[in-house]
Amino acid sequence: MSKYWSPVVNDLVPYVPGEQPKLDNLVKLNTNENPYGPSPKALAAMAEVIGDSLRLYPDPESVELKQTIADYYRVTPEQVFVGNGSDEVLAHIFFGLFQHEQPILFPDISYSFYPVYCGLYRVESRAVPLNEQFEIDPSDYAQPNGGVIFPNPNAPTGRYLPLAQVEQIVAANPDRVVVVDEAYVDFGGDTAIALVDRYPNLLVTQTLSKSRSLAGMRVGFAIGDCALIEALQRVKNSFNSYPLDRVAQAGAKAAFEDEAYFREACDGVIAQRDRVSEALEGFGFEVLPSKANFVFARHPERRGEDLMTALRAKGIIVRHFNKPRISDYLRITIGTQEQNDALLAGLQEIL
Ligand SMILES: *Cc1c(COP(=O)(O)O)cnc(C)c1O
Repeated sequence: MSKYWSPVVNDLVPYVPGEQPKLDNLVKLNTNENPYGPSPKALAAMAEVIGDSLRLYPDPESVELKQTIADYYRVTPEQVFVGNGSDEVLAHIFFGLFQHEQPILFPDISYSFYPVYCGLYRVESRAVPLNEQFEIDPSDYAQPNGGVIFPNPNAPTGRYLPLAQVEQIVAANPDRVVVVDEAYVDFGGDTAIALVDRYPNLLVTQTLSKSRSLAGMRVGFAIGDCALIEALQRVKNSFNSYPLDRVAQAGAKAAFEDEAYFREACDGVIAQRDRVSEALEGFGFEVLPSKANFVFARHPERRGEDLMTALRAKGIIVRHFNKPRISDYLRITIGTQEQNDALLAGLQEIL
């Protein structure tokens, strides 16, 4: 605290990202990065931009990138918003679409950035408990609210809510915005973008950080009705006119154009996820069914924190959340085959 601070800063509870260790040769399975690396075509497109043109500001509206994303999902560019990582897109959503009289709703076990944005923008919220199997029950979201947001697949559980049930939540809230945060949808889920033309209250966010291996570039986007997108445009142009730099715009566009590489990387992660899940079950873990690039698992005889610490001593980092209901779970990012081998060998020794 300092006398120089704006008073609101005293009350902020910032998000704590997963550790980005400085040490090399750790098996890093804690922040859901993609183990396979960006598309070589995306890398080439980015390299090409690095030169004299960096003197100049980037396109403030990312016109080419928006067109590419619009073509990919068969929507219009007016239905697409892009931002500096989907975290920034989410921030603009909280500011521009969630400040109403009633509290917004999100699952009690969910992305821990949501309550942080509530604190930043003074948005009231109500946590809706997941059921005993850590599933979202759509009927829980048919209650008065100022908006709804949930990840699908959910984080950190990995559980996926089928599209028909997503639609139930959207249809039950015609007067409020329902945001589906699809950071992990490319690892086996169906996107709710298919529904945006029928529901003016539906907004879908995605990121290039996970399935397209560009976490270091910071590119995310939202797709929905033009009126929702216009709200985000107004917020963005009152905050930062140039959120995406030239390198990010070029890399993101090329990543979307390299479908073959994208599919291969996602399929690789999915195959490894199935293998890791089975092996963990063989060690006695309870593994939630995952459609993400991580698994959420608990061992009935070991504390989550102890397992995390023991793995860490072997140079293997996984994520542990010291929170009600999930403190005995580990969230383990799916790595390369070699990284997963190291994880499983490490666990075998510990157990
Ligand atoms: C990783 C993640 C994001 C943020 O992605 P960025 O585009 O890297 O900011 C958003 N939502 C969820 C649920 C995530 O796991």
